[in-house]
Amino acid sequence: MKAKDVLELAKDKGIKVVDIRFLDFPGQWQHFSVPIGELTEGSFEDGFGFDGSSIRGWQPIHASDMLVVPDPATAQIDPFFEEPTLVLIGDIVDPVTREPYSRDPRNIAKKAEAYLKGTGVGDTCFIGPEAEFFIFDDVRYDAASNGCFYEVDSVEGIWNTGRDECPNQGYKPRHKEGYFPVPPVDKFQDMRTEMLLTLQELGIDVECQHHEVATAGQAEIDMRFKPLLQMGDQLMWFKYVLKNVAYRHGRTVTFMPKPLYGDNGTGMHTHISIWKGGQPVFAGDKYAGLSQEALYAIGGILKHGRALCAICNPTTNSYKRLVPGFEAPVNLAYSSRNRSASVRIPMYSQSPKAKRIEYRTPDPSCNGYLAFSAMLMAVLDGIENKIDPGEAMDKNIYGLPPEELAKIPSAPGSLEEAIEALKADHAFLLKGDVFTQDVIDMWIEYKTENEVNPVKLRPHPYEFFLYYDI
Ligand code: GLN
Ligand code: MG
Ligand code: MG
Ligand code: MG
Repeated sequence: MKAKDVLELAKDKGIKVVDIRFLDFPGQWQHFSVPIGELTEGSFEDGFGFDGSSIRGWQPIHASDMLVVPDPATAQIDPFFEEPTLVLIGDIVDPVTREPYSRDPRNIAKKAEAYLKGTGVGDTCFIGPEAEFFIFDDVRYDAASNGCFYEVDSVEGIWNTGRDECPNQGYKPRHKEGYFPVPPVDKFQDMRTEMLLTLQELGIDVECQHHEVATAGQAEIDMRFKPLLQMGDQLMWFKYVLKNVAYRHGRTVTFMPKPLYGDNGTGMHTHISIWKGGQPVFAGDKYAGLSQEALYAIGGILKHGRALCAICNPTTNSYKRLVPGFEAPVNLAYSSRNRSASVRIPMYSQSPKAKRIEYRTPDPSCNGYLAFSAMLMAVLDGIENKIDPGEAMDKNIYGLPPEELAKIPSAPGSLEEAIEALKADHAFLLKGDVFTQDVIDMWIEYKTENEVNPVKLRPHPYEFFLYYDI
């Protein structure tokens, strides 16, 4: 859609309000609204001014005026607002230099796509994320009802009993038994369907919705693969739609990677493929029907696997998921079938067009634009430097004897370790100026000061259990 088409659409639909959106550094959508009269063809060049100093991880207070320039290709009508509202996602631009802002995640995704084209390896990087999530009760809502609520247990963490999942009801799945019995064990079919249909109405192709392995409330909705930038935009809509559908029903959706102790966490396995001139670059006659390029791509992901975690698993909570026993990959290895490896080659379809690699480490607490861009840069580094991924690991890694396990490198054990890995290994991200040094430094500083240290300095509830009576 071009600027003119957007204005026509607004006219056709009788739109009076336009909502402009962009995301902050950690990945949360921000927005403000303007009356339709403020949106002209010129707005798509000149943008709208806002104060960038209050946006997490952005401009310091002394240089805070910024512009957000709406991208006409992103036009949508918001499915939740009472007043029909046109939504446009924007790019951040410096008002003085008119340069795209280097810390705008969308700009980084655009540069990653441009870098891919420049390498000659391909022209399109397709991304298909399998974002999982938990549906929990909204305590604010429950406070007004007589249902049963969260139990907050210092040993188990938060235990979601749910209004209609009170302890005496026999249908509540036990830990790790949620995948995926029919109702009445599955309580959320209708809500997931509403989510699916709302996404479809926004033009987002959905392949499947289902309950996930963890106790009542874990779910997954899979979007069909799309080019990198477009999937960055779609993932924002995805989180927005899921959270708002749940909210309407007095529930909340969380993408926190490990909300429940002792049960499966929430991953975002990400399928990656590269195409060139309408042909799949990853299809060939090597291991699992892959091409040599695809094997090198895996080599790149495994080589940079620890540093990638700082961007693809960017929360302190992410590392409570990456432990053995919960279908989350701990080791940096690849396999065609093995779900305990960090890279899997799906074998559902033998068609060369379906050839892709599934990177299982990421979780949906990440900023999609940054995570997809970082993955692509690791893939390209592998291809450009012909990085050998080694032998495939076709055994269950969780079951290996300790001496064999010790030979396989593993994901970082904490966000702090991941950040150390990123400090030591980020040259592959700087290529083509995709991630600037400023972005890397800022990310490290932001994550350390706002997340790693505050979590580390706080007494943990479990410490009370262990030590209170010592
Ligand atoms: N929840 C698992 C993870 O953390 C994945 C489970 C699955 O998709 N089968 O990656
Ligand atoms: Mg899946
Ligand atoms: Mg899943
Ligand atoms: Mg998967």
